[in-house]
Amino acid sequence: MVSKVIFGRGSFNQLSDIIEPKRLNTSAPFIFFVDDIFKGDAWLTSRIPLSYQDKVVYVSTIEEPKTEQIDQYVEDIILNFKERPSGIIGIGGGSLLDIAKAVAIMLNNDGESKDYQGWDLVKNPAVYHVGIPTISGTGAEVSRTTILTGPERKLGINSDYTPFDQVLLDPELTKDVPKDQWFYTGMDCYVHCIESLSGTYLNAFSQTYGEKALELCQEIFLSDDLSEQESQDKLMMASWHGGMSIAYSQVGVAHAMSYGLGYLLGVKHGIGNCIVFDHLEAYYPEGVAEFKKMKAKHNITLPQGICADLSDKDFNTMIKVALSLEPLWENAIGKNWKKTITHDTLKALYQKM
Ligand code: NAD
Ligand code: ZN
Repeated sequence: MVSKVIFGRGSFNQLSDIIEPKRLNTSAPFIFFVDDIFKGDAWLTSRIPLSYQDKVVYVSTIEEPKTEQIDQYVEDIILNFKERPSGIIGIGGGSLLDIAKAVAIMLNNDGESKDYQGWDLVKNPAVYHVGIPTISGTGAEVSRTTILTGPERKLGINSDYTPFDQVLLDPELTKDVPKDQWFYTGMDCYVHCIESLSGTYLNAFSQTYGEKALELCQEIFLSDDLSEQESQDKLMMASWHGGMSIAYSQVGVAHAMSYGLGYLLGVKHGIGNCIVFDHLEAYYPEGVAEFKKMKAKHNITLPQGICADLSDKDFNTMIKVALSLEPLWENAIGKNWKKTITHDTLKALYQKM
């Protein structure tokens, strides 16, 4: 679990008070990884507390984080600073949060980040790391994984050292998120709830968080009674609770198939989940019906025919990635999932997208 969290509009102003006691010495910097959408946005960047050797690294989110990108950041830090950093701070969406987590882990673990993709492969605790979401939904702020695309697979570094030491939740930071992106990343949370609550891994701990997150999503995406601020506050908490729910259970069919789309076509997590989930009536009938209502209410049009021109080899690649995520299928379908989830089942679904 995340050991410390602060919540509140304007709490970003307290960042200096929070991290300064963690400074090891004046040569051990804080490195801020910041979504480059904020480059030149003084409202946010002027409040990043920089002293001594501290550094801001702006990161493009056009593509999702890659293992080689993480290895490069780590090498740059080791080459450019005399001492290991006092802390790594990620400011942005799931991409930036995952980059901060992965860099913090790899600063204290030898080798390449691809070698740690999987479950519980990390040996040493990470450098102190802080997550500050600027868009809500992924649950990356609370999860014990950092999802990376490597040479062979798109898979998380899942470990007890992955969760942030500190999270700062300031819903005001999400005020300028574009509508479509708000929906896609918000639906990531909705899908987390559905996949967790209908999965075979569900337990009372996970269920409690999942039900609260689902209730918040229904309020945010289907009611007309919320102010913009209430909606921002609630989505930030839905993301947290949805993330907690899957951390103690697992995701399911939409995520497994979305990873395939992400790996082959570079389709991003949020929109990828939406594209897949739209076709999963057979697995999540109520959830998919409600999702379609939310989509209609917010006039969201999803891309169609993204698999229309793919070759057999392409389908095989996606299907291999999707089927390799065994815990997701076992959660979704049960221990005997291999009887019903075959190459052909997935191909037929992908062909609809
Ligand atoms: P993202 O981080 O790519 O951000 C989505 C878009 O929103 C980007 O274009 C970004 O620039 C923009 N944006 C972010 N904050 C903004 C703001 N305040 N104002 C305006 N624009 C803003 O996407 P995401 O959906 O948050 O995260 C997806 C990533 O998270 C994927 O890489 C996925 O694999 C990962 N993920 C991780 C976990 C986890 O548990 N670690 C869970 C789910 C997803
Ligand atoms: Zn997700």
